[in-house]
Parts: sequence; structure tokens; C-alpha cells
Amino acid sequence: MCYYDAYECVIYYILGGFTLRTIQVKKVTEAITQMCKDAAYYLPEDVYEALKKGRETEESPVGRDVLDQIIKNAEIAKAEDRPICQDTGMAVIFMEIGQDVHFEGGNLVDAVNAGVAAGYTEGYLRKSVVGEPLFNRKNTTNNTPAILHTSIVDGDKVKITIAPKGFGSENKSGVKMLVPADGVEGVKAAVLDIIQHAGPNPCPPMVVGVGIGGTMEKSALLSKKALARPISVRNEHPEYQKLEAELLELINKTGIGPQLGGTTTALAVNVEWFATHIAGLPVSVNICCHAMRHAEVIL
Ligand code: SF4
Repeated sequence: MCYYDAYECVIYYILGGFTLRTIQVKKVTEAITQMCKDAAYYLPEDVYEALKKGRETEESPVGRDVLDQIIKNAEIAKAEDRPICQDTGMAVIFMEIGQDVHFEGGNLVDAVNAGVAAGYTEGYLRKSVVGEPLFNRKNTTNNTPAILHTSIVDGDKVKITIAPKGFGSENKSGVKMLVPADGVEGVKAAVLDIIQHAGPNPCPPMVVGVGIGGTMEKSALLSKKALARPISVRNEHPEYQKLEAELLELINKTGIGPQLGGTTTALAVNVEWFATHIAGLPVSVNICCHAMRHAEVIL
């Protein structure tokens, strides 16, 4: 049995009781091409609103001036289809792939990178990627390769999230391998230590992604995933939700403010957690600047 939808180029096969959806990889390329531009130009609404709220509550006059400029910059970028920041970042892409999906028409990773190359070229976005990190550091000239994280989920859809990441904030992120005895207070101290060390360098007001648990690399990925969550959405677990609120309050008391001092150091703290070893308590902090860029599509 076969259905063909000419618009989505999607073919459904029913084979021995299994339904398999085929997606042409060129659809992935096209989606990512557009998402690269959308993410660079349009600040998500919840971040924009949080900046405006921060402007209302900011206690420092200089801080209010900085926030006015950040808000105006986001409005100009949206109105004129221009990048919010000159650093249009490394393309971090999350793909949640339904286990009933089959890709056809080429290699998926190549298709993702083709989308990034086209998006950054068509959108006149800065190409910020070097092909080798230590000795040669030659620019790849099309912002590839992307940092691609894939996960397998139920269903026959593919959710793609792009989160371009500038390195002013990425460079100030960190991992701390705590032990269980450090507890909640140890986690708070670890997060605050990384934020204090970052100071105004990550272009605050920042959004702080925190990953707790797993292994060293899992906690780092959790902190990145935490940044991909809208800042209007809180952790569902009541204790982690409370921790998010407490961390936000502590960070906003540091005085770092929106770059030149003040009370609006962070717009939100998003915490994600995972099971861990009986002897461990990994904590990662991934900082994002006020240019908290995202775009999302479901194929
Ligand atoms: S940290 Fe963010 S706002 Fe600052 S330069 Fe980098 S991308 Fe731009």
C-alpha cells in the first residue's frame, strides 16, 4: 500500500504491519537553509519579552540604557532581515528522528551541512568555523560542519531545532564534576562560580543552561539542550523548578547586569537532569548571550 503526497515528498509504505515514512533528505537541506536565516534575524518572542521585562525592572540607569539598545537592535534586525549579531555562530542542530522514518536521496549528515552552507551563504551570515582547531585553523568558508546531535524518538516525524551559538558565551561555559556530598548547595556554588568567572564577557543578559547528572559529556549535552528549551517553559519537576528560580535570583544578585553592571544579569535559568552514577554529580553550565537564537521545524 502506498500513499504519495506531492507537496511534502513523503511516501508511506506499509510493510508487513510496519508503517515506514520516507523523507527525502533534500527536504532537510531546504528546512535548515531557511532556519539558519530565520534564527539569525528573528529573536524568539519569549526572549524579546524577557528583555523588555528586564528593562522595566533593571535598577541601574546604565543597565537600562544597554537594554534599550539590545531591544532596539533586535527590532531593527527583525524589520530589516539582518543578523541580530555579527557573530552568527556555529550551527548547533538537534534532530529528534522518529523511529518510523527512513531517509532517502543521500546522506543525512551531508544534507544537514548542505543546508547550513546554503543558509549562511544566502543570508550573508558570518562564516565562523575553522576546519581544524589547533595548528591550521583555516576557515571552511561556509560555516560547516554543523554540530549535529541526533536522537531517536517514537513516531514518524522529524523535529529539527537550530541554535546558532556565538563563542563569546560558549567560551565561558564549563563542566564541574561534583560528588553526591556536595548536594544542592554545591550545585548552586558551582553554577555561580562559572557565572562569576564569566563576568560581562558572554554579552549578558544571558540565558543559563544547566545540565545535572549523567556522565561528564552527558551533563554538557544536557546543558546545551537546556538552552534549546524556550525560556517561558519551566522544568516540570517541582524541585528542579525551584532550583531554576533560586539560581536565577542568585545570578541576578551578582551585579554583573547587562554588561556594565546592574540587576538583569540573566533572563532565565533552564535546568535539565538525567540519572547518574552513585558516586557522581556532574554539573555543566552552558551560557548563552542575549542573542538567544533559535528556529524549529517539524517534518
Ligand atoms: S556572545 Fe552573543 S551577543 Fe556577544 S558577540 Fe557572541 S553572539 Fe554576539
